[in-house]
Amino acid sequence: MNVYDSDKMAELLRASHGLEPTSHAEEADVIVLNTCSVREKAQEKVFSDLGRLAELKAGRPDLVIAVGGCVASQEGEAIVARAPCVDLVFGPQTLHRLPELLDARRDSGRPQVDVSFPEIEKFDALPPARVEGPTAFVSIMEGCSKYCTFCVVPYTRGEEFSRPAHAVLAEVADLALRGVKEVTLLGQNVNAYLDPDGPEGDLDFADLLQVVSDLPGIERVRYTTSHPLEFSQRLIDAHARLPKLAGQVHLPVQSGSDRVLAAMKRGYTALEYKSIVRRLREARPDISISSDFIVGFPGETEADFQATLDLIDAVRFDGSYGFVYSARPGTPAASLADDVTDDTKRERLQRLLAKTDLEAARVSATMVGTRQRVLVDGHARRDTSELRGRTDNNRVVNFKGGERLIGQFVDLTITDVAHYTLRGAL
Ligand code: SAM
Repeated sequence: MNVYDSDKMAELLRASHGLEPTSHAEEADVIVLNTCSVREKAQEKVFSDLGRLAELKAGRPDLVIAVGGCVASQEGEAIVARAPCVDLVFGPQTLHRLPELLDARRDSGRPQVDVSFPEIEKFDALPPARVEGPTAFVSIMEGCSKYCTFCVVPYTRGEEFSRPAHAVLAEVADLALRGVKEVTLLGQNVNAYLDPDGPEGDLDFADLLQVVSDLPGIERVRYTTSHPLEFSQRLIDAHARLPKLAGQVHLPVQSGSDRVLAAMKRGYTALEYKSIVRRLREARPDISISSDFIVGFPGETEADFQATLDLIDAVRFDGSYGFVYSARPGTPAASLADDVTDDTKRERLQRLLAKTDLEAARVSATMVGTRQRVLVDGHARRDTSELRGRTDNNRVVNFKGGERLIGQFVDLTITDVAHYTLRGAL
């Protein structure tokens, strides 16, 4: 989502002020930090980066420094107070106002702060995305209304709101005309999607997947992130019905302990989660399921953690992300005693990741010898004489092939595997 937002910022500044991106801070007229506050470490990094940028600005007073994203949203004016080198502060819902804020800064000579939530206005004001390669992200909804006790997102990105289906379809159709073959529909909880322009319940996420995959030129559709709470049978059925829908779902579970899930206010039990997975696999037997886990939530005992490991054994996830719990200011869980020691949190994270990595390696190994349909998106990262593509279950495959294959679907036989990356042959 932050990659999507950063691209939009770059497009806006190109359209309004003719600014071109550079990867060298010393060359820049405007430096934008797009920030994340989901964990403390990411939040603190912003201030250490600003310390370095203040030195750069000392020698170049005209340099404009802007801070966007969720740290900006959470801290607002306090950013300018703590880091006076900052000229602009804007939130995820005001990024479209970046050009005006830049002008106001130059005209007034004063720092500008706008971290309000004008909601849908954002999408109407954004320029069309630049197309680079055959894949693209498309935001379909913003914000979150789940209020999990650990999570800062509802406070920084605002409540859930869906983008009108006609606007999503127009954007995807335009991308398809410009050569995009695979779109990833984006949102905090995409399965909460409901077309705001239709009568209540008229067009939900399962319907949206259907109409997006019906668009000419679109050959593969992914989405991220979904939430177990609104993972409806209609959505599960869509996985059986829509061949263009990728066989891969990232479905954060966070914990396998019902006690911890209740304290997190996730709204489901481990059994209910397993029931979704079982029905997804009935609908699409080869589906790859990955997840997010938090270890060391306040009060998490060894037995709770063991329940998480048991869930991993039962579900057999294909790759996952694990995070050490980080108390976020303003969230309900921040008032609970953060009573799991740092050593225990780290040790649990290692045990968890060892298990999920092993399972991902097992899935990769089973792919050796199979034939996979791969969308070629460019050159391999290490050996740029080779090409790189992605399988339906989102594995990277490197292989030898001609330039003209970039942007096309090809069939590869998987010949080898190194960690998560596969090798293939045409
Ligand atoms: N909307 C999704 C959900 O919760 O189902 C995920 C969105 S969140 C931006 C991405 C991941 O960050 C979460 O799934 C969670 O594992 C992790 N996360 C969120 N808040 C956290 C916190 N306070 N400490 C550690 N990890 C956290």
